[in-house]
Amino acid sequence: MTKINKIGVFTSGGDAPGMNACIRAVVRTAIFSGVEVSGIRRGYQGMLESDFWTMNARSVGNIIHLGGTILKTARCLEFMTDEGIEKAYRNLKSEGIDALVAIGGDGTAKGALRLSERFDIPIMCIPGTIDNDLYGSDFTIGYDTATNTVIEAIDKIRDTAASHNRMFFVEVMGRDSGCIALRAGISGGAEAVLLPEVETGIDELISKLSIDAKNKKTSSIVIVAEGDKSGGAYQLAQRVTEKFDYYDVKVTILGHLQRGGSPSSFDRVLASRLGYAAVNELLRGNSGQMVGLRGNTVALTPLSEALNASKFKLEEDLMEMVSVLSI
Ligand code: ATP
Repeated sequence: MTKINKIGVFTSGGDAPGMNACIRAVVRTAIFSGVEVSGIRRGYQGMLESDFWTMNARSVGNIIHLGGTILKTARCLEFMTDEGIEKAYRNLKSEGIDALVAIGGDGTAKGALRLSERFDIPIMCIPGTIDNDLYGSDFTIGYDTATNTVIEAIDKIRDTAASHNRMFFVEVMGRDSGCIALRAGISGGAEAVLLPEVETGIDELISKLSIDAKNKKTSSIVIVAEGDKSGGAYQLAQRVTEKFDYYDVKVTILGHLQRGGSPSSFDRVLASRLGYAAVNELLRGNSGQMVGLRGNTVALTPLSEALNASKFKLEEDLMEMVSVLSI
């Protein structure tokens, strides 16, 4: 096992609340163990441009409560080529970086896997994405905060909806993942939830909402994940509007506000645990793994397995509950 003298840490892909708490944990755990840390700004883009920052324990002071990422983040097409990966590796070597901690979603983990397969550099990935769509961790950093942000909005929408007998279609983030929509649907008391992973027929939706109207529900909230196959909240609202005269139909797209804000206590603890574990696992000689949380225990999953989309499962019991609990 080669001794690790300097760890590079970066955030990549979409930003997620809790990334800063994770950077803090990585930096301080490494320094506590006598290892230097180089922050890499803007993910793989910064690796290609040698945008490095020598960090110390004070570099990460007063950031645990901040959303976003002090290391910035980016999506980088050049890193998806073999030439890009080679260039990034050369730059890492010139900076003296001998191990990496990558914080990001599935795309970030795919890039890390390719880099670790091509070159002999130990890498640990930490799931930092509001999407919660990686196999091997019950939760990803940022998911809890983003869901809480959605709930706060839904609670407010519910007040106005109930006062006017309104039906709201609320579109939430999730191009390929319905996790935010599902949890927000349960905790916001939604009448229906539409997800990319589950086909919901428009007739089925209309029939459910008609029963609600007959039962004199004073408001109706339908959560739509942005990747739902029926075409998004506006299109759904249009198709449903003509069927109902009881409700005034409205649409709210929550958009990027779901990414921002101070991380929840859950996300701060998760980020701290995973950042701490990632560095310790590297120092123990582990590589090519994702550090996650399973059943309240930190667990390692090989990157190839974490990225196996067919292994990832939505919480099906929650899906079944939506219609029962909204009668
Ligand atoms: P989020 O879940 O928030 O979208 P993410 O990490 O999945 O985060 P992506 O934009 O998919 O975000 O990926 C981040 C970056 O990882 C990409 O911009 C690209 O630089 C790199 N990446 C993604 N896929 C690959 C791949 N197959 N090979 C090499 N690099 C990749």
